[in-house]
Amino acid sequence: MDRVYLDYAATTPMDPIAVKVMLPFFSTDFGNPSSLHYFGQQNETAVENARKSFLKMMGSVEYELVFTSGGTESDNLAIKGLFNPNIPLSGQKILISPVEHPAITNTCELLERQFGVIIDKLRVDNNGIIDLDDLQTRIDNTVSVVSVIWGNNEIGTINDVEKIASICREKGVPFHTDAVQAAAYLDINLEKSDIALVSFGAHKFYGPKGVGGLLKRKTIKLIPQNVGGSQENGLRAGTQNVPLIVGMQAAYELAIHHRKMVNEHLIKLRDMVIHEVVKNIPGTYLTGHPTQRLPNHASFVFEGVRGQDLVIGLDMAGFAVSSGSACKVGNPSPSEVLIAIGISENLAQGALRVTVGKNTNESEVRDFLKALINLVKELRKG
Ligand SMILES: *Cc1c(COP(=O)(O)O)cnc(C)c1O
Repeated sequence: MDRVYLDYAATTPMDPIAVKVMLPFFSTDFGNPSSLHYFGQQNETAVENARKSFLKMMGSVEYELVFTSGGTESDNLAIKGLFNPNIPLSGQKILISPVEHPAITNTCELLERQFGVIIDKLRVDNNGIIDLDDLQTRIDNTVSVVSVIWGNNEIGTINDVEKIASICREKGVPFHTDAVQAAAYLDINLEKSDIALVSFGAHKFYGPKGVGGLLKRKTIKLIPQNVGGSQENGLRAGTQNVPLIVGMQAAYELAIHHRKMVNEHLIKLRDMVIHEVVKNIPGTYLTGHPTQRLPNHASFVFEGVRGQDLVIGLDMAGFAVSSGSACKVGNPSPSEVLIAIGISENLAQGALRVTVGKNTNESEVRDFLKALINLVKELRKG
């Protein structure tokens, strides 16, 4: 069976050019970047060139870049690393949106259980857009960090993180954004930015899994979470994974180079999915913002069907999609993100996420739409 992959928000295949760039670093060019000899220096140069390249591509003269094991670790480092030494932990607040990835929400909840840190959640509208007035009234000097996701993994909504960042900076509170979904599609340019920290991960932009980065404004103090050697300017101990870092650099350079063209292609396919699904399947609603959304991202809720049944049925028909959250088979609890944007618990069970990629073509999308329309009909018959 020819299988069609429509789950590019979960992960992407590596660009073959990025794979090729990595290969020597697994074998001939294997040195430890911390070693003083030739083998070490060759690898240190590769890592530092990658760092310089990222800082340049992201316009971030005022920033430093910490290489991590991916989006999750970057999110953990940003949230756990930002405590205000002048206030006891139990008096500190973390201000987040109610539509964050579990890498943020579960990190905050751990800090709440461990140290009594207070989690405060911002108001969002039905599209998942942050209420800026609410931010203005809630932010004060007991807040150690504000964190809002840039491009939403479940509902595709893009938040205006620059506006949020400037409010935070005015109040002297560091603002972090999870740009793991956004990095492939949106221009991360920190040249005139008020954003303090940005997380990203390579496998969402056709790079390798298990590597990512945290950009941090140089003036922000961060408590390291991994201690040992002095790698990454003391902010993340452990020998750098050189092959993955150079693979991530190549993937991001390619992503930026082709971005405009790829985005146009993705938007066309995305809008075709949205338009056809809503037109042909009654009792179907788009989730997230209708226009201010990731170029490759379509997400829905369906009345009278369960998302997991759709995912399984479509998989049997050869199409790989997602129900949009960590909602696994046998776990009926609905997505907190969908509840936060005002969708009922019942309707939230019928969530489906379709995310296209640079290799997706129109005929695959047409075949998928046929399969989906038939499957929904069948499931509703019961
Ligand atoms: C995938 C994802 C993460 C986790 O990144 P990993 O590199 O897989 O650890 C975090 N946040 C968002 C928004 C994501 O989409």
